[in-house]
Order: sequence, then structure tokens, then C-alpha cells
Amino acid sequence: MKKILQLAIFLLTISVTGQNTYLHCGKLIDTKNGTVLTEKTVVVSGHKIIAVENGYIAAESSNDVVIDLKTKTVMPGLIDMHVHIEQEFGPKTRLERYILNESDIAFNSVAYSKETLLSGFTTVRDLGGTGVNISVRNAINRGKIDGPRIYTAGKIISSTGGHGDFTNGAKKGLLEDPGPEDGVVNSTDDAKKAVRQRYKNGADLIKITATGGVLSVAKSGDNPQFTIEEVKAICDAAKDYGMHVAAHAHGDEGMQRAILGGVKTIEHGTYMSDETMELMKKHDAYLVPTITAGKEVEEKAKVKGFYPDIVVPKALAVGPQIQGTFGRAYKKGVNIAFGTDAGVFKHGNSGKEFGYMVEAGMPEIEAIQSATVTNAMLLNMKDEIGQIKEGFIADIIAVNDDPTKNISTLENVVFVMKDGNVYKN
Ligand SMILES: [Zn+2]
Repeated sequence: MKKILQLAIFLLTISVTGQNTYLHCGKLIDTKNGTVLTEKTVVVSGHKIIAVENGYIAAESSNDVVIDLKTKTVMPGLIDMHVHIEQEFGPKTRLERYILNESDIAFNSVAYSKETLLSGFTTVRDLGGTGVNISVRNAINRGKIDGPRIYTAGKIISSTGGHGDFTNGAKKGLLEDPGPEDGVVNSTDDAKKAVRQRYKNGADLIKITATGGVLSVAKSGDNPQFTIEEVKAICDAAKDYGMHVAAHAHGDEGMQRAILGGVKTIEHGTYMSDETMELMKKHDAYLVPTITAGKEVEEKAKVKGFYPDIVVPKALAVGPQIQGTFGRAYKKGVNIAFGTDAGVFKHGNSGKEFGYMVEAGMPEIEAIQSATVTNAMLLNMKDEIGQIKEGFIADIIAVNDDPTKNISTLENVVFVMKDGNVYKN
């Protein structure tokens, strides 16, 4: 009887005090101030960081867990502003559009989500898919599958024949003429309806294709594909629902219309002129570089049969430009938000983007800040993620080396905690 009572008291104590995790961090990156601190203890309780202390603090209770990261550099979980969680491009992508069911896409997404999380990205902005991405987000939030915290655009909004018109290149009669619900709009009324449809379906934000793109089965990779009135209708409607708008754009004219219409982020930005860079600054828009995707399409365009023939010249023209444009934009003082376009390349490799940014002239710490504090701010989460600080959500990663001295260490994340749960150690 006494033993049972003792056990009951013990179980009650656990449930009341809970279990805290003590992370002993050899180095800790302060992303807010851009400094590297040494010998810190981060205390996590539930899904929150409850303290950041000097030195290595011993655990208070025997229920507590101590994780030794004394030889590692610890930093907040990374945020990627441009992924496609449902997809991974390959030679069969064009065919898969016609043979995969939503359940197939969902199962693929389970693997992509896990790879993304284990590579250190604890939050991502998903910029478009079939709509299954909304269910993937929900499944992760409910703890049914492992993955990053997702903010998703649901289905892309495009114009007829535009970069996001999924019926491009299909045999006549195979698919019907798509409308706003499918993400294809051709007037300001259509535009508003499409935004409201995204809201109804549970999207968190809006993605438009302001110009042609590389991987669509269409001729131009950079022509403007919306009128400024259509972009404005989309942005105005999105604002009513608290959603921001991300615009895929390679060509300069389409980019200018997007910025003037009110989009928050320009994705890729390949042929951005000096004038457009000034416009970005004036309108407080952010460039999401996606250099890794540029490198990938350039490389894969040289592999015979990897992409449809119509895509190859676009990939060879656009791919090599992206890193240089990013370097110019950075030097001109354009706001930069970290984003990779994962899904155009294999999920789990987004850490490469940091090295490409540094190679183009951005200091290591600023590249890290773009993927933490900047992206957190753009997602309206600046007081919850992107820093290791008391009261913040416990999204914490670690790498073997100090990334402010060796940026490539971010390609090999060795410890991942999201929402206080350890997924990799
Ligand atoms: Zn993309």
C-alpha cells in the first residue's frame, strides 16, 4: 500500500513539475545581435525556452535531461521561405502530374517533410502545390507526421498559360480550362475569387507567378503574366484576410508590376534591374534568392532528358544569373529573406544556400540572420521563433563547427529540436 502511495506521489510530481531539458552549448549564436556567445545553458520546458543561462548549469531534478552540445555551435531552427513540400523535380515530373493521386502526393510529402526537418529547417513557407500541402501542414501540427512548421500558399495563382497553369503542355481535351479555384485567373474579379478560395481552403498566404518560369512547359521564362491591376486585386484581397503575397518573378517588367501591386517578397528576381532594386527598397519588399535552385536547373539542363526540351534553354539562361543578381541586390541594400526553392532540388539540401550567399558577398552572420530573425519577422513570428531566448518556442539546432567561420557546416546539422521535442541528436 505504502509503495503504491509513493508511486502515485512520484507520478504526480512528474506531471506537475514536468521534465526540463538542459542544453549545454559550447557556442550559441545570438541571431538578434549577430554575435557568437560561449558556454551557455538553454533550459527547455514543454515547447518553450524558459531560460538562457551563463555557464553549464546542472539539472535540478532527476527527471530532467541534460544534452551535451559543448563541442557544438547551437542556434535557432532555420527558416526557409521557399519550398515545395509536395514535390521533388525529376525526369518523370511531367508524367506524374497525370498519374499521381492526392494520396500518392501525400505519402511523398511525408518523406520530404521529415528530410526538411532533419536538415535543420524547423519552419518553412511552402510556395505552392496541389493543395495537399494544407493537409500536410495540418498533419504536422497535429503530431501525426514529423516535419517543419509549415506556412503554405496552397495552390499557386497564375494566368492562362502562365507559369502556374498546370494544364500547360497537356494534350487538347485532356484537361478542362482551369479557373480561379484551380489557380488560373484572367481578371481582377477572378483574382479576388482565387484569393478568397485560398482562404476558404486554409492557405496561410498567397503565391503568384508574376512572370514566366523555368520549369513550366511554356516558351518564356521571364515575360510578364499579370496586369498591375490584377496583382493589386490579389494583394488587396489577401490583405483583408491577413495574408501576404509572394511573387515568383524572373523578368524585370513583371517584377515591377508585382512590387507596385503590393507583393511582400520577390522569388528568384533573376533579371532585376538597378531601378527595380530601388523600387524594392522603396516598397519594403524582400528578395528571396533561391540560388540553390538556379545552380540545380543549370546542372540538370545538361543531363539529356531530365527536363522537357522546351525547359532546357530557359534553365540554361536563368540558372546561372540568379547568384549574381543576389550579390548585386545585397550590395545595393535590398532586403534579403532566405529561401531556396527546395523541391526543385532534393529536400534536405537547403543548407547549401548559405554557402552560395556568402560566395556572392554576404557575410556569414547576415546569411544566418536572413534565415532566422528576418524570416521570423516576415511570418509575423518575430517574438516566437528565430532566436534562442526566454519565452520563445524551443526550435533549436546544432552544428559541428562555428558557421560564422565555416558556413558549410550548415549542410550537416547534427541536432534538431522543434517545439521542445528532439528529432535528431
Ligand atoms: Zn518555387
